[in-house]
Amino acid sequence: MLHTLRKIIQEVNSARDLDTALTIIVERVRAAMGTQVCSVYLLDPQSNRFVLMATEGLNKDAIGQVSMAPSEGLVGLVGTREEPLNLEDAASHPRYRYFAETGEERYASFLGAPIIHHRRVMGVLVVQQKERRQFDEGEEAFLVTMSAQLAGVIAHAEATGSIRGLGKQGKAIEDTRFVGVPGSPGVALGSAVVVLPAADLEVVPDRQVSDIDGEIAYFYNALEAVRADIHALSARLASQLRQQERALFDVYLMMLDDASLGGEVIKVIETGQWAQGALRQVVNGHVQRFEQMDDAYLSERASDVRDIGRRLLAYLQQARQQKLVYPDNTILVSEELSPAMLGEVPPGKLVGLVSVRGSSNSHVSILARAMGIPTVMGAADLPYSMVDGIELIVDGYRGDVFTNPSPGLRRQFAEIAEEERQLNLGLESLRCLPCETLDGHRLPLWANTGLFADIARAHERGAEGVGLYRSEVPFMTNERFPSEKEQVALYRQQLAAFHPLPVTMRTLDIGGDKALSYFPIKEDNSFLGWRGIRITLDHPEIFLVQARAMLKASEGLDNLRILLPMISGLPELEEAQRLLHRAWSEVREEGVDVPMPPVGVMIEIPAAVFQTRELARQVDFLSVGSNDLTQYLLAVDRNNPRVANLYDYLHPSILHALKRVVDDAHSVGKPVSICGEMAGDPSAAMLLMAMGFDSLSMNATNLPKVKWLLRQVSLQQARELLDQVLLIDHAPLIHSTLSLALRHLGLARMLNPGASTQN
Ligand code: PEP
Ligand code: MG
Repeated sequence: MLHTLRKIIQEVNSARDLDTALTIIVERVRAAMGTQVCSVYLLDPQSNRFVLMATEGLNKDAIGQVSMAPSEGLVGLVGTREEPLNLEDAASHPRYRYFAETGEERYASFLGAPIIHHRRVMGVLVVQQKERRQFDEGEEAFLVTMSAQLAGVIAHAEATGSIRGLGKQGKAIEDTRFVGVPGSPGVALGSAVVVLPAADLEVVPDRQVSDIDGEIAYFYNALEAVRADIHALSARLASQLRQQERALFDVYLMMLDDASLGGEVIKVIETGQWAQGALRQVVNGHVQRFEQMDDAYLSERASDVRDIGRRLLAYLQQARQQKLVYPDNTILVSEELSPAMLGEVPPGKLVGLVSVRGSSNSHVSILARAMGIPTVMGAADLPYSMVDGIELIVDGYRGDVFTNPSPGLRRQFAEIAEEERQLNLGLESLRCLPCETLDGHRLPLWANTGLFADIARAHERGAEGVGLYRSEVPFMTNERFPSEKEQVALYRQQLAAFHPLPVTMRTLDIGGDKALSYFPIKEDNSFLGWRGIRITLDHPEIFLVQARAMLKASEGLDNLRILLPMISGLPELEEAQRLLHRAWSEVREEGVDVPMPPVGVMIEIPAAVFQTRELARQVDFLSVGSNDLTQYLLAVDRNNPRVANLYDYLHPSILHALKRVVDDAHSVGKPVSICGEMAGDPSAAMLLMAMGFDSLSMNATNLPKVKWLLRQVSLQQARELLDQVLLIDHAPLIHSTLSLALRHLGLARMLNPGASTQN
């Protein structure tokens, strides 16, 4: 069953458009199940009717003609109950409705399964048979599995059709909305620049080109380069392989010939297809033919063709990358954005970001917020590889992406952008004013930094120190571990830029979604795995070099504070402190005269919450990492858009945990800060102030808004609000209580210029 399922899905996946995909589905499912009929009905959102879109077995003239409301017929019943329906004699069911156009009266038995994608019913998959019989459990399981697998494929094919107006009517379709999750607030209008994953043939889109000779030249260059690689590989392995084994390389070289794959690709390019698209078509065709073969040796050849395809694609992509020009108003689109990709775009050109994977607390979103770039994450249904060069609107407030925006939609979003610009202008005057409440409570606002550009931004926005320098960020944009000397220069830059204000440098926090290309870690549960302090304690050489570099960089400045990430208990803290002292004595032995800086622990693992006092006693300060604390307390992967709606730092459990941390830290006389994204949310910041946090550290972009709000309220008001909120046991109620309180204070509008895009 699995083998058949996989084969069908593969075929459907490579279909050009929705109609072809549906035709393949009905043909293959009917054959696999041995039934007389297989049909797909899709729910048309406009008419709210299930429309017969493809059938094998029923009258084909009925396609597009027969439709039923959710309250009608057996198909409507399957769609509304969202459950399979298995009937021996369909006509005797009270909900049976007869459509003469289909000729279905001949079929007695009926099995239907709903097609559901992300909780949305998209349609119904049906098989029918003449013979009166109940479909057995195996058949039912097959159809249910099939429709679950097909839901994503159909959603993708539908979306692809709406992108460039290649839909059923063939006209341009405007304002198609793709739903993701908000990554960084703001709105942007610009042209999409797609960054494709390296050498992944599956996602290469079709693209028409006028410069056919140019594409052929690219392809010939790639052919030459791959030929040279194969010759080199064959020569290198000559002594280790037998003659027959080396024959494989000859097969590869033959495939590249004009008479073979090479020639076929050129023919497709000559039709006006770009080289990468032509390569994908030809390679996929061969791969499919090989895979359909039942002979194990021949079906294995599919992987050789795929390998050749990948090699050629890598060279074609390299050539394209070299000539890639980023237009003004670039919106970078990728399956999975990485900090390094942001760095590729020339300064001033990047206005928006869209990622198919990831969520609002992925580190790319955090960087985007720090840079003030509107971002949508987790746009899972966006056929991202198809949007290159087309106009997009990114709505980072709601998490929506619109393709081919109409003049009306452009106008609406231009107004929001203008409103936002005005608000920021209004906030500029706050730069030199203290963050002080109406009743005189001072709360230092610090910035989170990591990128070089953060230094200037933090200064511009009036940060009073750095509460979190993410030292891993420069490591992520490098191609190898930076040396001690390079690190000293980096850290000195930070410390000197803020001197005499304090700079809290966190030791390397890699793992999870922060990968280093030169130190790959493959894990199933990376957020529960080798992360942060766990890695650096296992690699004391990395930790010691970094600690020494921080200490040396602080010479004569004395504004360094060191922060330890992902501490889950005292043994890790003690081990890290031992290494820090060792680094300190080493640098002093080298003649660098620095005092031992204050050391702090991040409270971001639930275990640490319950040991706040014990940890605090051993260090100088604490800092809560609410991003991770939220993910670990709620068991919600911060990077997974599917569960993004469950990730909520205003959950009652989080608020109670935070309150407890503050009380426990203060009970042993230690200050506590918070440096997760929550601190940069103005209304949450009000609650944090009321809890007693000694400082808040946030992305510099949000700092003026937080300051503005805290200057409009009294500590007394904030405390009353906190008392009220801590009694509420439902997160959604906490949200509405907060927004209501802000509205009563007349402060809501200022904080959310995107509110006009909300329904
Ligand atoms: C946190 O977890 O809240 C935090 C500040 O660290 P990071 O987001 O880098 O994991
Ligand atoms: Mg963290």
